[in-house]
Amino acid sequence: MAQLILAPDKERSVFKRHPWLFAGSVAHLVGRARAGDTVEIAAHNGRPLGKAAFSPKSQIRARLWTFDPEETIDDAFFKRRVAAAVARRAALPELAGQEGVRLIHAESDGLPGVIADRYGDTVVVQLTSAGADKWRNAIVGALVKATGCARVYERSDSDVRGLEGLEPVTGWVHGEAGGAPLSIDENGVRLGIDIAGGHKTGFYLDQRDNRLLLRQLAAGKSVLNCFCYTGGFSLQALAGGAESVLSIDSSGRALDQARANLALNPSLPAERAEWLEADVFEALRVFRKEGRQFDLIVLDPPKFAPSAAHADRASRAYKDINLLGFRLLKPGGLLMTYSCSGGIGLELFQKIIAGAALDAGREARIVRRLAGSPDHPVALNFPEGEYLKGLLVQVD
Ligand code: SAH
Repeated sequence: MAQLILAPDKERSVFKRHPWLFAGSVAHLVGRARAGDTVEIAAHNGRPLGKAAFSPKSQIRARLWTFDPEETIDDAFFKRRVAAAVARRAALPELAGQEGVRLIHAESDGLPGVIADRYGDTVVVQLTSAGADKWRNAIVGALVKATGCARVYERSDSDVRGLEGLEPVTGWVHGEAGGAPLSIDENGVRLGIDIAGGHKTGFYLDQRDNRLLLRQLAAGKSVLNCFCYTGGFSLQALAGGAESVLSIDSSGRALDQARANLALNPSLPAERAEWLEADVFEALRVFRKEGRQFDLIVLDPPKFAPSAAHADRASRAYKDINLLGFRLLKPGGLLMTYSCSGGIGLELFQKIIAGAALDAGREARIVRRLAGSPDHPVALNFPEGEYLKGLLVQVD
């Protein structure tokens, strides 16, 4: 096995059990290794520190699989790690009965570059790093064994694969499509999931708890759901007794699925739902001119800042939509606002929201801090895993 020798004094992050080694921390490679191969990580003095997946094309030159230099990286390793991740979800009572669950949350489950979401008896796996790509068969086999699921679909078409020198890969890797269209029950609401054509693995499971919170807040309210995707928040608002729910997304395909999802729930009052295909930035400006107002506004935009380098431009975009959101709230209204940008920390996000309220001339207070659901844990040694943050803000 090749050895990746760290530059002098660069072993500190490994001692803190951070799984990434950047190119600047590496002195040299002893032996030969190709993308995805397992290499031994050693301090500058040669002391072994663990084993990692080598990634010559990426700025993240190696991702540690283990901090135990004695541990072997083989099929059995992936069986153990995958089984542990699945067992972690099973041990959380609040996830009991959920048909849609994230089973593997990458670094936070000790599996850098591996995402796995379960939708009923189908698992969708996304491999984003060279190391994860190399161990595809072991990971898929371990998932089938740990879950007993009938089929596994691969959605490795995320842009980040490009940084690793990997091509997109999609398709069935175990079993094949079932007869009926795929859907899950999420806290009493049925949702169709398009695993092949939807975003990410097909759905945003990370917002499950926040959608349930919206349901608890929605009774009798006029709700505006911006960036609604397939209507997850919208349907929970209807289930919670909202008086009206106006949902906006720029994707016609997402809105088609949203309408189909509403039809899957005949007990919901469809006449209270309105869907608008539009750019949120433009639509909110039009509403402002028209003097329209809402009791409750959800802003769950896409990732404006994939990394800290994009933070400035992203900050302006967050400020812009939140400023518009504040202006469209009735007195006493609630703004449920999110950022899923890794490059925007919680502190910065709160500052942006404060600036938006100030400029909108609204007095406002945080009544709740919001985060991803518990099947998207954040390992304490990997704070980068905390990408989703939100605030529930009440205006005067
Ligand atoms: N809240 C959703 C997830 C939102 S994902 C849920 O709970 O499932 C972000 C969505 O924003 C995507 O559906 C994307 O199509 C949409 N989007 C991106 N840019 C947009 C824009 N400028 N205007 C309207 N929608 C946009």
